[in-house]
Amino acid sequence: MTRDSPKAAANSAVGSIDFRLARARTIFAYKSGEATRSEVCDAQSELMRNAVNCGVPIGHRCPICHANSLVEVLYVFGPRLPAGGRCIVTNKDLDRIRRWDGAFTAYDVEVCTDCKWNHVLGTNPVI
Ligand SMILES: [Zn+2]
Repeated sequence: MTRDSPKAAANSAVGSIDFRLARARTIFAYKSGEATRSEVCDAQSELMRNAVNCGVPIGHRCPICHANSLVEVLYVFGPRLPAGGRCIVTNKDLDRIRRWDGAFTAYDVEVCTDCKWNHVLGTNPVI
């Protein structure tokens, strides 16, 4: 593995936002029939490509399709980075950004590489 899990790589300090409640609400909406599978399994092609090539396995089953294909993908947003953020592949990528001036935020995204389920798990300041 070339990088720590997003939870370990990003700093979970003051300024972190946890999206577990929103995730649970989305899963409930799907299971209760309020949301369709295509509405909750809508990862775009770039996110899927990054999930397959750079994702860190989570080790538990997808809440939608139950496949053992969940990974976490870490994106960082901030000055001088692409508008869609930069997918972090190695710890060195994150260390390099830490040395730059400016405020950077890491988004930890859960993705199922089988059914395209995806949800932001949380955000953390990169410090
Ligand atoms: Zn799935």
